[in-house]
Amino acid sequence: MDAYDLIVIGSGPAGRRAAVQAAKLGKRVLVVEGRRRVGGVSVHTGTIPSKTLRETVLNLSGWRERGFYGHSYRVKQEIGGDDLTHRLGKTLEHEVAVLEHQFHRNMIRTISGTARFTGAHEVTITRGDGSELAVHGERVLIAVGTVPFRPDNVPFDGTHVIDSDTIIEDLRVPRSLCVVGAGVIGIEYATIFSAMDVPVTLVEPRETFLDFVDREIIDEFTHELRDRGMIIRLGSPVASVVKDPGGWVTTTLADGRSVRSEMLLYAAGRTGATADLGLEHCGLATDHRGRIAVDPKTFQTSVPHIYAAGDVIGFPSLASTSMEQGRIAACHAFGLPLPPAPQYFPYGIYAVPEISTVGMNEQEVKARGIGYEVGIARFRETSRGHIMGLNSGMMKMLFSLKTRRLLGVHIMGEGATELIHIGQAVLNLKGTLDYFIENTFNYPTLAEAYKIAALDAWNRMPK
Ligand SMILES: Cc1cc2nc3c(=O)[nH]c(=O)nc-3n(C[C@H](O)[C@H](O)[C@H](O)COP(=O)(O)OP(=O)(O)OC[C@H]3O[C@@H](n4cnc5c(N)ncnc54)[C@H](O)[C@@H]3O)c2cc1C
Repeated sequence: MDAYDLIVIGSGPAGRRAAVQAAKLGKRVLVVEGRRRVGGVSVHTGTIPSKTLRETVLNLSGWRERGFYGHSYRVKQEIGGDDLTHRLGKTLEHEVAVLEHQFHRNMIRTISGTARFTGAHEVTITRGDGSELAVHGERVLIAVGTVPFRPDNVPFDGTHVIDSDTIIEDLRVPRSLCVVGAGVIGIEYATIFSAMDVPVTLVEPRETFLDFVDREIIDEFTHELRDRGMIIRLGSPVASVVKDPGGWVTTTLADGRSVRSEMLLYAAGRTGATADLGLEHCGLATDHRGRIAVDPKTFQTSVPHIYAAGDVIGFPSLASTSMEQGRIAACHAFGLPLPPAPQYFPYGIYAVPEISTVGMNEQEVKARGIGYEVGIARFRETSRGHIMGLNSGMMKMLFSLKTRRLLGVHIMGEGATELIHIGQAVLNLKGTLDYFIENTFNYPTLAEAYKIAALDAWNRMPK
């Protein structure tokens, strides 16, 4: 039986970063991936496809220029499925090639096949042709990610009733779209299709959505979506989904309202891909959502030589954090000392418009009883915003009244997911409001919003 220092199950962000880290420490590493090619959900159905689709739509619809040239401005009048698929195919091919090269360069062995535990140190791989291979791992990392949650009463067909995996398999521009689930994935797709002028209805059983984001940002975001015609139905769960012979889908809510659409995207949750992993053979169990519990500092499971990282351990379920978890798990597994992780990581929501946030929001600051002041900047106040024709976009910063320290940054608008890193650096380096006042920023930039928001707060701060 082949023996490895580390067997990694799953080649998404957590798995690949762990594999590369272990290989750099001179370890023998095997990565097992159930798909034909490496990359995980992140590359094949999740992060990269949805962001590529977003970029394609923003470019072809002329979205970024509409502030200047008006709502009827288009780069391409008719956008069809082929337009969306073309760029996607090229991007994914490039991403996979880079990953394959990375594995090769680091002498990491990869096998395409489904892995399951057949012992505490033994993993059996079933290949596409049905043949089996048993391998021994001194240490094992479970990085299997998640699969979309598919309730029995939703008639998924891959065409009219789809989830966030199948949407990518057959990209089309429907005449109308109903999105169930106002989590990050649902919001991203709802706003991307709405940017193509597809009438979109967003359904969420709870009264609120994206609760980890500052409420003021969400209020502004909601206003913007409604302003461009999106219907948002909160506070009522889906009672039934029925498809008629013509392919139209009627989604009826528990409160009696219904939505008729050409396509339904069901994006209400994901579950850990652990059902067939044979965890009973290695002494591990999962919670009701298929997630595995770990030590949050080391990513070690209750079985010391087995680690788990990425979406399979639950929140925050981001490619960015999964990579870091994989790296830390590999370092810990092979005895490399770990500096404490930075306190704050950014959250990016690639909706149209983007939202990004780092640190505490106003709800959290209030709940902790910290004395604070708020600074707000609107992108239309920046020269860069004028040049770009931006009508919307805002930045909100929170500062401690006592220490003047930055507590959180919350941005909605163009470039939010890039801009946030300035705030992240200042936050993790324990910087204060004065950093933004005293430092020179490039001009004209959207980053100037940091200065404007800081000055806004400064006006009301104790002198
Ligand atoms: C639509 C969508 C958009 C997203 N957008 C973003 C974003 O913009 N930014 C961001 O940071 N995150 C985003 N995410 C989240 C991000 O994709 C995940 O956090 C990330 O992919 C999780 O990485 P992972 O390492 O846990 O593994 P995954 O990427 O989930 O990959 C796990 C891999 O394990 C394989 N596997 C499963 N079981 C087995 C088995 N038994 N044997 C062998 N292989 C197996 C699977 O085939 C899969 O390829 C998005 C997710 C979705 C669905």
